[in-house]
Amino acid sequence: MNAQTNETTLTDTPLASRKFVYEALPMRVRFGAGTLSTLPEELDAIGLARVLVLCSPEQEDTGQRVAQALGTRCVGVLPEAVMHVPSEVAQRASEEAARVGADGCVAVGGGSAIGLGKAIALQHGLPIVAVPTTYAGSEMTPVWGLTTDGRKETGRDPRVLPRSVVYDPELSATLPVPMSVTSGINAIAHAVEALYAPDATPIISLMAEEGVRALATALPAIAADGTDPAARSEALYGSWLCGACLGATTMSLHHKLCHALGGTLNLPHAQTHTVVLPHALAFNQPAAPEATAALSRALGGAPDPAARLWQIAEELDAPRSLAELGMQEEDIERIAEEVTSRSYGNPRPVTYEDARALLRAAWAGEAPSAHPGA
Ligand code: NAD
Repeated sequence: MNAQTNETTLTDTPLASRKFVYEALPMRVRFGAGTLSTLPEELDAIGLARVLVLCSPEQEDTGQRVAQALGTRCVGVLPEAVMHVPSEVAQRASEEAARVGADGCVAVGGGSAIGLGKAIALQHGLPIVAVPTTYAGSEMTPVWGLTTDGRKETGRDPRVLPRSVVYDPELSATLPVPMSVTSGINAIAHAVEALYAPDATPIISLMAEEGVRALATALPAIAADGTDPAARSEALYGSWLCGACLGATTMSLHHKLCHALGGTLNLPHAQTHTVVLPHALAFNQPAAPEATAALSRALGGAPDPAARLWQIAEELDAPRSLAELGMQEEDIERIAEEVTSRSYGNPRPVTYEDARALLRAAWAGEAPSAHPGA
């Protein structure tokens, strides 16, 4: 910075000493209130004439609404999507897609419905059109997951990346406020880890910062009025950006912890992300100054983004302890072991003792700290 002119000089920018690889994922997006009515046009644009609609049992009405809008382009509705894609459900859905002669799937709902579409795409290569109604972000990633005998396996495959995404904020207006808040913080978690990812790029970092800003602005407005159309639009826009961050980078400690807690203990996905994020971020902040500065800007100048996220969870009545999500104290060591048994990129090295202390603080609902247990 030039002190006299107060201007940033070129040598101040991180690009001066940085090399990176950026690969854009092929992605078509329609965004806007009421865009569900353009779904038939979207299917025509990508050449799909016989789609199977996928949704969860709780959202069967929405699935039927979509089927009606599609008319003869829809060959069935399968309301069987559940969290973490059990392999028997994936198998049944793949058989149903083959039986009705589907040439693609329309997945309407959260990560569970989109995950089921991905399982079918993995087996048959059928293209997916995603219509997300939560903020989880799966529609923006080539990442699939399948759970067999209580063990969740995940992988990347370009065939499971949706061909097209229709973001209609009106569909998310029915998402209950508590789920909206935790789902939004789940999205923020993708952006947080993208900012300090080993394969972070300036392009994705721009999306991450803007995604966090959008969600941090929208979530209090949704908590005040879940039907506020402007807040729903802003939140869905933020979740799109954060989902793109998840699809483009490698996740670190926070996602490893949540993967282990969800897969091994079956804790609820979005709520687990909400509780763990301030703790994982507080731990990583000292080793990630650029990410911390970006998050600070996105959170309205908060000097300690991890502490601010913890405070936001309190302000919005979100869960702040793993104990209240049903985790038993004796499971702390098992998860710490699981998370540190394999190495992965993280800005700060994580020992078994670090993971155990972090989990204990998150389990007990203590304030996040860079040195948990100290
Ligand atoms: P979800 O899809 O299970 O939805 C949670 C509940 O909310 C369901 O009962 C659903 O029917 C209901 N719901 C969804 N939208 C609604 C709406 N608008 N109105 C009323 N009810 C609504 O939960 P999720 O958090 O979106 O997704 C979690 C799953 O997605 C997990 O299995 C997670 O692992 C996976 N996921 C995968 C990726 C990826 O890239 N592969 C990314 C994020 C999440």
